[in-house]
Amino acid sequence: MGFDIQNVRGNFPILRRKVYEKQLVYLDNAATTQKPDMVIDRLNNFYSYENSNVHRGIHHLSQEATACFEEARDYVQKFLNAHSRNEIIFTRGTTESINLVAQSFGRKFINPGDEVLISQMEHHSNIVPWQMICEERGARLLVVPITESAELNMKAFEKMLSDKTRIVAITHVSNTLGTINPVDIIVKLAHRVGARVLIDGAQAIAHLPIDLQNLDCDFYCFSGHKVYGPTGIGVLYGKVELLEEMLPYQCGGEMISEVTFEKTTFNELPYKFEAGTPNIAGALGLHSALLYLDRLGIRQAAAHEDEVFKYALDKLGQIDQIIIYSRAQHKTTSLSFNLKGVHPYDVGSIIDKFAVAVRTGHLCTQPLTRIFQVPGFVRASFAVYNTTEEVDIFINAVIQAKSMLMS
Ligand code: PLP
Repeated sequence: MGFDIQNVRGNFPILRRKVYEKQLVYLDNAATTQKPDMVIDRLNNFYSYENSNVHRGIHHLSQEATACFEEARDYVQKFLNAHSRNEIIFTRGTTESINLVAQSFGRKFINPGDEVLISQMEHHSNIVPWQMICEERGARLLVVPITESAELNMKAFEKMLSDKTRIVAITHVSNTLGTINPVDIIVKLAHRVGARVLIDGAQAIAHLPIDLQNLDCDFYCFSGHKVYGPTGIGVLYGKVELLEEMLPYQCGGEMISEVTFEKTTFNELPYKFEAGTPNIAGALGLHSALLYLDRLGIRQAAAHEDEVFKYALDKLGQIDQIIIYSRAQHKTTSLSFNLKGVHPYDVGSIIDKFAVAVRTGHLCTQPLTRIFQVPGFVRASFAVYNTTEEVDIFINAVIQAKSMLMS
């Protein structure tokens, strides 16, 4: 499959639909991406002809479903270049993956007086689970500040690291600012003081090639729905030696080896962390989504997205009275802005009437609204199927919103 934008758009049936009798322009990809035929067909086929529970049956359908489910795991391992398939745990998404680590790692390794480092640009999913576990374990949550240019303050980060730091939990790409954090440097610095590192890859997975053996972080997580896959499926990668030491986060079927009323022994990895019937169709759909992206070529896809993103940044920047928050030198596909003094909901509602889907509000980063002293942001976020023609429609909608709200 070569990269042909019209071909790519043709793979996504939703892009053919109209909203308010106009062609839909979907720029809310950081919230969730649309799904190609390949993923939709996979789900349809599973429920039509293959549906069965995994790991439990000796009958043919169950064995087939199990094989497909485990093949999906193998594909994720390959996609991330993880060392072992046992390091790939299926979860409901990034949120569940982070909660799993906060609870399971936290209860085992975080003690009174220890410190957990996050940053000012984290999504609520990478703030609240750490707040909860720090409170429970008597640990301190430290927050690395960002700079004027919406980048992590690496000098402050280095200063905040110490032998008390148990884990650093940082986003790979900010969903609000688009900033790409220097995760390779963060991992090296954190490991130097003996801290573990969790990278929230929710906004990176569709746009940046990931090589976990090279990156050497201890945990990495993402959601399927942000990489053209289904909702309700995601991944937690964890290093085997850590996962082996951690206790399960949820308990029930699948995750046990032997149960008596006196004692339970746990299943081997990765099943120890997959209690209950998993999202089987979701895992198969995720497999198809990653396959789709692999066939397109993630680097080619990213190059196209970058072109569209830069075009949008440039055009938006030419509009008077616009404040752009996506200012980092290294950034990708999330473009947050405001019209000076205008509430983002008002801007978003007008843009919507042009059939352009953007997101407005705190974007699950309320601390950033306080830092920038705004009620929220308007965010356009791009995916592989967006075009510069769509950007023109979006820019026109912003100009119209401006003339209605600011004249
Ligand atoms: N982390 C980041 C950076 C995100 O952008 C999101 C979702 O927007 C999440 C975590 C949470 O992802 P999910 O809701 O799929 O669990």
